[in-house]
Amino acid sequence: MEILGNGPILTFDPDRPFIEDGAVAHEDGVIVELGSTADLRTKHVGATYRDREGYLLMPGLVNLHTHLYGSLARGMALKDPPPGNFLEILERLWWRLDRKLDAEAIRASAMVGLIDALMAGCTTLFDHHASPAAIPGSLDLLEECFEKVGLRGCLCYEVSDRDGEERALEGIRENARYLTKARSERFGAAFGLHASFTVGNATLDAVAGALPAGAGVHVHVAEDASDARLSAIRHGGTPVARLAERKLLGPNALLAHAVHVPDSEWGELSSSHSTVVHNPCSNMNNAVGALKLEKLLGAGVRVALGTDGYTASMLDEHAVAGILARHVSVHPGAGWASALELLTGANPAVASRFFPRPVGRIAPGCAADMITVRYFPPTPMSAANLGGHLLFGIARAPVDLVIVAGDLVARGGEPTRVDRREVFAQARDTARKLWARF
Ligand SMILES: [Zn+2]
Repeated sequence: MEILGNGPILTFDPDRPFIEDGAVAHEDGVIVELGSTADLRTKHVGATYRDREGYLLMPGLVNLHTHLYGSLARGMALKDPPPGNFLEILERLWWRLDRKLDAEAIRASAMVGLIDALMAGCTTLFDHHASPAAIPGSLDLLEECFEKVGLRGCLCYEVSDRDGEERALEGIRENARYLTKARSERFGAAFGLHASFTVGNATLDAVAGALPAGAGVHVHVAEDASDARLSAIRHGGTPVARLAERKLLGPNALLAHAVHVPDSEWGELSSSHSTVVHNPCSNMNNAVGALKLEKLLGAGVRVALGTDGYTASMLDEHAVAGILARHVSVHPGAGWASALELLTGANPAVASRFFPRPVGRIAPGCAADMITVRYFPPTPMSAANLGGHLLFGIARAPVDLVIVAGDLVARGGEPTRVDRREVFAQARDTARKLWARF
């Protein structure tokens, strides 16, 4: 058992959101008890004690939608004229890049993305992977990288017909294989699909047939208006209708974006208890439009938060979710409570469905995934004003310790299991080769 004592605790637990000065005891990867430092040390005499020296303790953050395969695109020049719309972004950047990924590039890209996430205090990532030239076993390569860095992951391969029938079938087999693989406590799985407009009816039927009971899809839905338009033209239905028809909506369905799902289909999303994963930074970057966050929540749709690979920081994403909601609503009161709820309520609740025990909160029985942040509140901090401190202070404070399933995986903000300089130097070499093939 280890006790992390001496400092404030932000728990993300609605029953007890903030402890001004306290301690957490954890053992075998699980949080056992919260209390005062003195009480826990007296009660658990044999436990190891780690003094936080006043640093804030909070849950490791959860990212419900990202693409580790894109990390090596940083600084890469495109070879075609700059994209003028979303489809051209896919064709001229991401689909051209993912076709060139081999095992070495998949590994290097994942390691860079995982280390960036770790340093931003993110301990659980839901990855959406694509590497059409290297599909079989690609999810195992990713899992090895998560193990090396020490993070928790929910993995899937994005099935698509865009590279032909054989690649689509390989993608289906990779998801089905990984979903049934015996996994450790740190790994979950979903069934990945690219997006409705690149998945034909035969492939979607095959996905529905191969989806194990209880598993959920992880899919881009109506990210851009073109998804709805092309789905109707090519496949005879809207993205939501095509998923609903095959019973692919449900409590474990992760629908990234949903920016262009018409309000006539919001009832389908809420009644199926599907989760819309909002990625505001990416949506603004790709100029696809903005989710009507407040209205969607008002319609009873569950919404959570991801980055789509745009940033490693969930606290940045939380900040942008709030200001984008205010911008869209043209109301200064919009987005405050809802952005906080996505980050601290929905993300832990949704992620917990994919792992053996709850994640993303500091409470007894939850996975011991925690971070410390060098944040000393310069104004009064209480359960009532955590959102303001997260937005304007904690988001800018350096992460110190990162603990996942009870293991210390970062100290002083640096990974403990791998040498960041060495990994990034190797990644630069791999990126040079990848860029030459691009
Ligand atoms: Zn995405």
